[in-house]
Amino acid sequence: MTRFLLSLCGVVLAAGSLAMDLHAQAAAAKVHVDAARAAVAPRAASKLRPYETFKALFDQVCTQPTLPDAMRTNDRSAVVPRKEWFTWPVEIFDNLHFIGTKTAGVWAVSSPDGIIVIDTNFHYSSKELVLGLLNFGLDPNDIRYIIVTHAHDDRYWGAKGLQDEYPKARVAMSAADWDVVARDNSPAQFKPRRDLVVTDGQKFTLGSVTVTAYITPGHTPGTLSLIVEGLTNRNSVASDNERHVAAIWGGTDPSIGRQGVQYYPDGRTMMRTHVDSLKRFIDVGTKAGVDVVLSPTLSHANMVEKMRYWRMANPDHSAGAEAGEMLKGEPHPFVSRDAVARYNRILLGCYEAQLAWRAGS
Ligand SMILES: [Zn+2]
Repeated sequence: MTRFLLSLCGVVLAAGSLAMDLHAQAAAAKVHVDAARAAVAPRAASKLRPYETFKALFDQVCTQPTLPDAMRTNDRSAVVPRKEWFTWPVEIFDNLHFIGTKTAGVWAVSSPDGIIVIDTNFHYSSKELVLGLLNFGLDPNDIRYIIVTHAHDDRYWGAKGLQDEYPKARVAMSAADWDVVARDNSPAQFKPRRDLVVTDGQKFTLGSVTVTAYITPGHTPGTLSLIVEGLTNRNSVASDNERHVAAIWGGTDPSIGRQGVQYYPDGRTMMRTHVDSLKRFIDVGTKAGVDVVLSPTLSHANMVEKMRYWRMANPDHSAGAEAGEMLKGEPHPFVSRDAVARYNRILLGCYEAQLAWRAGS
């Protein structure tokens, strides 16, 4: 009887300590979620600038998972009709063009010495996306580098077609992510030949623009996050004709594995890796004077809204275009140090919360 009571006490105590752990976990996560939430909107929100509020980013990254971390296994090899993804390219700076789809960021950094394309989207869209460069008098044959931020289908499957079409262009990825490409279960015809292996801090300089790549594991084992320096804006509606610096955090949502390759043994290791990489990249960005955020998934930094606004301000996207009357004097929607700081605080707060929610795992 005594033994029974003792073991019952043990069970009750264990259950009690588990409840306390869960309580502590939830409290720790809440502190981080609250910090992230406080950064969603600017101090002085304006109806004219709805793109300043990062609600989509917060909602996606700060949601507590209801299921254990698992590999995503959906097969995206079927061709998606053009009307579902096509959107017009946009000149954001004189030397930075959006050439992506309705949801995915694909960017072209241009100079008289050549073009750097960042990410390639899918096999069915990439060749048409780079033809968007012709809109701005840029020749896709001048592409020198194709930097792929990470080894996921929506980032690299298009690289194979571009590699075949434009043999002068070097396809660049980290060693860890080239290894993922070699091992994953993607159809072989979508896999680019292993080409340029990017090292941490490697610079790609063409004329007056430089893209520096940092290896920031998290979303994949060798995700590249990029700093783009030397962006100019002749066409500004405000008086910000200085040079700008953009940051691209290479992969946003927590990802333990995809396309048949598991990157981390458990969710806690996965989130610890995200947090450590992000802290380092925020530091790098601060030192570089980042004042522009470009997100690979357009909704995360309200890219669509910003581009819509920018197109209204600059109807023909050409140098010297008259600003739209209603937007005259408004700032460039992509330039804001406050937005950069808030975007970073949301990401970091949400990643820390994700780590806290996995404390017992
Ligand atoms: Zn991804």
